[in-house]
Amino acid sequence: RAKSEGRDTYRFYEHAMGIEARSRRIMEHELRHAVTRNEFHLVYQPQKKLDTGELIGYEALLRWQHPERGNVSPGIFIPVAEESGAIVPIGEWVLKTACQAAVSWKSNLMVAVNVSAIQLHSVNFVQTVHRILLETGLSPHRLEIEITETALVRDMHRALTTLRQLKALGIRVAMDDFGTGYSSLSNLRAFPFDKIKIDGSFIRQVDTNEQAATIVRAVLGIGRGLGLPVLAEGVETSGELSFLAKELCQIGQGYYLGRPSPLDDLHEDDLRTKEKSADANAA
Ligand code: C2E
Ligand code: MG
Ligand code: MG
Ligand code: MG
Repeated sequence: RAKSEGRDTYRFYEHAMGIEARSRRIMEHELRHAVTRNEFHLVYQPQKKLDTGELIGYEALLRWQHPERGNVSPGIFIPVAEESGAIVPIGEWVLKTACQAAVSWKSNLMVAVNVSAIQLHSVNFVQTVHRILLETGLSPHRLEIEITETALVRDMHRALTTLRQLKALGIRVAMDDFGTGYSSLSNLRAFPFDKIKIDGSFIRQVDTNEQAATIVRAVLGIGRGLGLPVLAEGVETSGELSFLAKELCQIGQGYYLGRPSPLDDLHEDDLRTKEKSADANAA
């Protein structure tokens, strides 16, 4: 009885915008234990240069495999983890796991990790990141932190201080979901970003929809003007890809370029230094 009630409660999560208080408490409790119970894993989605198709790195995306309910989408559990504060230890696990994975890759591939507002503003966040880099041995230049604008508006002064400290360590910072947030343009000016990620909603049918095309061209112009590379998120078709390449968008990510996959399924060829070509260059 209680179990089926629980299941219904979860179904409710999937469909409701706001989560009922009791269901939220159940999930908060489960999320507190999910790290130690090994219920999380990361999947990695490739980011590729659009002119050459070269792989530049992967974005780490969190997956929660609930023992009874199966995969719960991050769109559902991340907000709950943020509100309860559980995102801080969970986010630390994500950073550490992603950095460990990247150490095993070709030395020039980067790993991008999403960081929540609560996590960015948590005590000792910069020290934690620094410690994880030392523990895993990952070069800071290979780590990119993705931040959405909600993380910045909470406390702009503090966010700026934190981003500057991260950058002083050599870490890069990307603005995630550009265009969907609050006051995007002023944030671009106020914060030291290294990359702009245009939200997938603008990429959808960019090759056939004149409005979407105009917006994307404008963002690419801003990127060029500011000297920031622009990454198009959610590239799903060859038409979208050729539009973006023609408009000189530097980087792409999306199902058409590669699905998020578990570490073990990433292509060996992409991950390992090609000794042959390195030898050829040396000769
Ligand atoms: P995001 O950072 O903007 O990640 C991109 C989302 O788009 C991912 O959804 C990815 O699977 C999905 N995606 C990639 N290519 C395509 C495509 O071609 N078409 C479509 N329709 N979608 C595509 P996912 O993995 O469900 O993650 C959703 C959001 O949850 C992320 O958006 C991010 O904001 C958050 N998130 C994921 N992992 C973490 C994490 O470790 N920590 C934090 N704080 N947030 C995370
Ligand atoms: Mg992201
Ligand atoms: Mg995004
Ligand atoms: Mg997003």
